[in-house]
Amino acid sequence: MLLDDILAFNEKFVEEKGYERYVTDKIPNKRAVIFTCMDTRLIELLPQALNLKNGDVKMVKNAGAILKDPYDSVMKSILVAIHALQADEVFVIGHHRCGMTGLESDGFVELMKERGIDQTAIDRLDKAPEEWLNGFEDVNDSVKQSVQTIENHPLLPADVPVHGLVIDPKTGKLDLVQKGY
Ligand SMILES: [Zn+2]
Repeated sequence: MLLDDILAFNEKFVEEKGYERYVTDKIPNKRAVIFTCMDTRLIELLPQALNLKNGDVKMVKNAGAILKDPYDSVMKSILVAIHALQADEVFVIGHHRCGMTGLESDGFVELMKERGIDQTAIDRLDKAPEEWLNGFEDVNDSVKQSVQTIENHPLLPADVPVHGLVIDPKTGKLDLVQKGY
């Protein structure tokens, strides 16, 4: 089982002081917060491609790097990074071939049903699936929208630049969508 494997590995990791090269503190050395996608291909690639080490940035992730709701936990995390942890620059990084491209709530609900979720549970939701379970059509547009949500936030200091980028999940190449300076 994965959990058992993880726990066994972890015991050795700590015992052999595998952590020593990662020791740092909670203030981001590069004074930045990155908001990106949870995609598996980006776990190591993104930090490597951007020359980021442990301790360099605050990293916030969700499916698709989608931020539309200025009161959700992503925006809260970004505000914490800025106001409590000294970040003074924001990077929104979407990526090509994202799983959220073309994801529509209808199809998503069908997948849930196949997984055993019944219609009554869907009917009882406070928010209909089409209001919150969609992806996006174009990653550039989606990045722009996330940037805009952050930029327009009343609690974002005026001197904090918000950049928008798209990364290639294979090569790590970055394309600039919007420069915040
Ligand atoms: Zn993605």
